[in-house]
Amino acid sequence: MKNNNLVIAIDGPAGAGKSTIARIIAEKLNLTYIDTGAMYRAITWLAIQNSIDLKTQKDLLINLAAEAKLELEGIEKNTDKQSNSFQRVFLNDQEITQEIRGSEITLLVSAVSAIPEIREQLVEMQKKMGLNGRVIMDGRDIGTVVFPEADLKIFLVASAEERAKRRYQQQRKFGLNTQENLEAIQKDLERRDYLDANREVSPLRQANDAILIDTDNLSVPEVVQNILNLIQINSQKI
Ligand code: C5P
Repeated sequence: MKNNNLVIAIDGPAGAGKSTIARIIAEKLNLTYIDTGAMYRAITWLAIQNSIDLKTQKDLLINLAAEAKLELEGIEKNTDKQSNSFQRVFLNDQEITQEIRGSEITLLVSAVSAIPEIREQLVEMQKKMGLNGRVIMDGRDIGTVVFPEADLKIFLVASAEERAKRRYQQQRKFGLNTQENLEAIQKDLERRDYLDANREVSPLRQANDAILIDTDNLSVPEVVQNILNLIQINSQKI
């Protein structure tokens, strides 16, 4: 065992189950879980709070983001909604964990995350977060850009139909965004995937050395077990 560091990258399209899986593995292996999507959502929240027009005021957002204090903490402690709890997010000392999950943010986040200067700022933060630790980070560019040297890279996918179905069931179960129907959810996931995969800077794509897991016919415990097996095979560090 060289050292105790372990970096696991989980990328994939929206709603593939990345955060659910990453959180369980984090708990099992005592890793710090980092939801990088929450960071892009936080900057999107900042844009909305400041009524920033992304077409004409990009520079203003870049400056505001550079000055902002963005902090991620552990998972929300909400026993009723455990499987639906999120990474806690604070921007300039204000907690915005729930606010960043709203549909207004989801609609705009891919436009914000396509701004190269915003990506640069957040990627730098993400690299620092993983410098000397044991982390599992989920996002779109973790295996390709943030941690190209990660100990293990997973690319998690599922069909758009399956991803929409899961999200719909989750929302119904927890009474979230109930105005959205299955069709609308699927359209939104596909819209975001398209934007994320077709932007110029660090688009969503599978790293050459990432392992693809299609979760269409797998349960959450099965995916977790697959990844735990891969960690054991790929690394002597646990
Ligand atoms: O993971 P989540 O769906 O919350 O991510 C929200 C958005 O943040 C994605 O649709 C994408 O535009 C952006 N994102 C990104 N790079 C990451 C993580 C998220 O561009 N590493």
